[in-house]
Amino acid sequence: MLLIGAHMSIGGGFFNSLYSGKELGCTTIQIFTKSANQWKAKELTPEDIEKFRQAQKETGIAPVVGHDSYLINIASSEKELLQKSREALLLELTRSEKLGLPYLVMHPGSNPDEKEGIQKIADSLSWVHSRSKNYQVKICLETTAGQGNTLGYRFEQLADIINLTEEDKRLGICFDTAHSFVAGYDIKDEKAYRKTFEQFNQTIGINRLKVIHLNDSKKALGSRVDRHEHIGRGFIGLEGFRLILNDKRFEKIPKILETPKEDDWDEKNLTILRRLNKG
Ligand code: ZN
Ligand code: MN
Ligand code: MN
Repeated sequence: MLLIGAHMSIGGGFFNSLYSGKELGCTTIQIFTKSANQWKAKELTPEDIEKFRQAQKETGIAPVVGHDSYLINIASSEKELLQKSREALLLELTRSEKLGLPYLVMHPGSNPDEKEGIQKIADSLSWVHSRSKNYQVKICLETTAGQGNTLGYRFEQLADIINLTEEDKRLGICFDTAHSFVAGYDIKDEKAYRKTFEQFNQTIGINRLKVIHLNDSKKALGSRVDRHEHIGRGFIGLEGFRLILNDKRFEKIPKILETPKEDDWDEKNLTILRRLNKG
């Protein structure tokens, strides 16, 4: 079965994201575990959890992938923001665990000093791991565009973070096609595609790959500017997505659209992905 879906709103309650996803024909979806641009979160009630589990049973959508808030920066050199970010990440991991999500995708963080930032990220992840001992949910570091001071745009940086983190078996990677493309990892044609995932395998290991974000890019290869475009309409083009969708190694990996939401574009993009999967 083709594991594709979209990032869905939790505006109408967590359970509602599943019914909306089902209407689009999603077999997997991604959700925020709380409002993405606020620190505070309303506590998850047993009813929220029960309704969500029931909706998951009814829709058969699995896995549901979590995504963390944009405010979190576990690479920060500011003490207060760093501590706030660690606590917020732990809270999101706990909410993901309660909802039964297998993965929480997160942005590694930003710091103008690469070496310091990478060490802070690893220390923060170790801090979170040590306070969530028996959790099943895994944190997945997302490949980034490298815009501004964001880290995690080179595979080597992600490998360093993994190596420096305690309980690193609990870490996975989310590969975002648009981010990695503008970071310089081409997937436009078969030759480039092979090279990119060979590099991924050699640097990080393909077994770490747990989630894929399917976004075309409004910006060019190597530009390090993060602007998502509809599938086939950007600088990556249809062939790159055809290669991913037909790659046997990625069959069981959830593939999630984060393309612009206006009108019925999720439906259009999903239709294109299904067609590409048939060759
Ligand atoms: Zn993301
Ligand atoms: Mn993404
Ligand atoms: Mn992005």
